[in-house]
Amino acid sequence: MSENDNIEETKDKFLVLHFIECKMYEEIEKELEITREDIRKLFNENKKIKKSIKRYKSLLNRTFKKLYNLYKYSLLHKEWRENDNIKEMNQTLKNAISEEKFKDFVAKYLKNKNAFRDNLTTNYKADYTEMKYIRKRNKIMKDIKHKDFLTSFKKYFNEEIFPLESFITKYGMDDYDRQCKYCKITESTITKLVKNGEINTKRIYSRGRTMEIDQKEPNGGYTKDNIALACYWCNNAKTDEFNKKEFKKIGKAIRKVWERRLEETEKNKKIKK
Ligand SMILES: [Zn+2]
Repeated sequence: MSENDNIEETKDKFLVLHFIECKMYEEIEKELEITREDIRKLFNENKKIKKSIKRYKSLLNRTFKKLYNLYKYSLLHKEWRENDNIKEMNQTLKNAISEEKFKDFVAKYLKNKNAFRDNLTTNYKADYTEMKYIRKRNKIMKDIKHKDFLTSFKKYFNEEIFPLESFITKYGMDDYDRQCKYCKITESTITKLVKNGEINTKRIYSRGRTMEIDQKEPNGGYTKDNIALACYWCNNAKTDEFNKKEFKKIGKAIRKVWERRLEETEKNKKIKK
């Protein structure tokens, strides 16, 4: 590759980055007149936002899954718990589903924090107290997947729920040293602790090295105002039980443990010297 090619490529990447900040897919496609496949390639090749894109995709998919499940659930007949004809209920559900109605549902769900949303999620959660209802619910809703719904949902998610650009602003470029909202540990400190053998979890091969996305209000959804960066340990302990305010106190205690471990690391270094 010649130097000129390199410059051109860098320019392209820069353009794409710039567009992510202010516009989205459709416009990039129109403005640059390159195929969506090419845009995707550029996104993936550009290591600087690779982590952001990966996290964003995961939030999008998780949000879709949750909303789609709730949508299906909202269509179940009120007496489904007493009805034993699973096949029939499954068929009725299949017939009732439509993409338009799903879109309406999502809009209604996101805009309403009142009775509609609360009732639905409360009932949905109530099933968790009895395993037999969970099994039954899964059976009724089984085999009803709509990947095509996801395609239009992506656009909606980016425009209405959580724009990619605001996610990148919060998550930062790949080389940014992210910090946990609760225990205040940074990714560079985690790396240091790993190096010194001060981390115990066996999950560190797949989780722990980078900050995860926490929902400040559990079950409040992955929206731009409801996310915080949290380390694996805080995120895992916070679960969907504690809210931001409650967990801050726990985070402070975790911080003390990290500080002690760091002190140990420093002491050991001095002894070795
Ligand atoms: Zn933490």
